[in-house]
Amino acid sequence: MYIASKKSRKKIFHTEQCSHVKNIAPQNRLYFYTLQDAQAAGYRSCRTCSAVMWYYRRESAELLSFCFENGLTLHFDRKKAALSVKTPHSLWKIIVNGQENQLFLYHRNMFDKEDPKSPFPLYHSQKFRSPTILGYLEYIVQHDHYRQYNPLEIYHKKLRWDEHHYRKGSKHYKKQQKRFKRQKKRQAIHQVEALLKSLGDSHKK
Ligand SMILES: [Zn+2]
Repeated sequence: MYIASKKSRKKIFHTEQCSHVKNIAPQNRLYFYTLQDAQAAGYRSCRTCSAVMWYYRRESAELLSFCFENGLTLHFDRKKAALSVKTPHSLWKIIVNGQENQLFLYHRNMFDKEDPKSPFPLYHSQKFRSPTILGYLEYIVQHDHYRQYNPLEIYHKKLRWDEHHYRKGSKHYKKQQKRFKRQKKRQAIHQVEALLKSLGDSHKK
């Protein structure tokens, strides 16, 4: 059961146990049976009692230092009751779901492809499971690291170019293929340059 105030303009809902509920006069309480009902009515999650924030508080000290060391940013997405994770290379969402209140991870697609089954239309679910948020952040950093050394040919380009799936053999398709080829070549050159530079740097020491 979730509770919101009929009077509040902020439109935030709470769990029954939340300390904020006692501030809502009984006659002003609005009840929702499920999280989805509350979200569908346009209500957003409370930062105090949202399940994902419970995990966050439990780990907050470790999460802060890990994010600082790895250049990650965390943000509470009130609308979706999710923890958004931003890295220099990728976007992610962590949510709590299921009867056992497990954490689940979603990854922003390379292509602007809609997935009707996903709670986040432009994200797909990851099979990897961790009982902690920190476990997911470690996975995310490893994923980014892997991607940097094994780039998808169009990974670094803005999504605007990637979202088009042209018919094979068409004029646009050929143009796109040429563009990918040029990008691949440029990336290869950049990688060699970076490698040479890192070798040079380590030599100086
Ligand atoms: Zn609350």
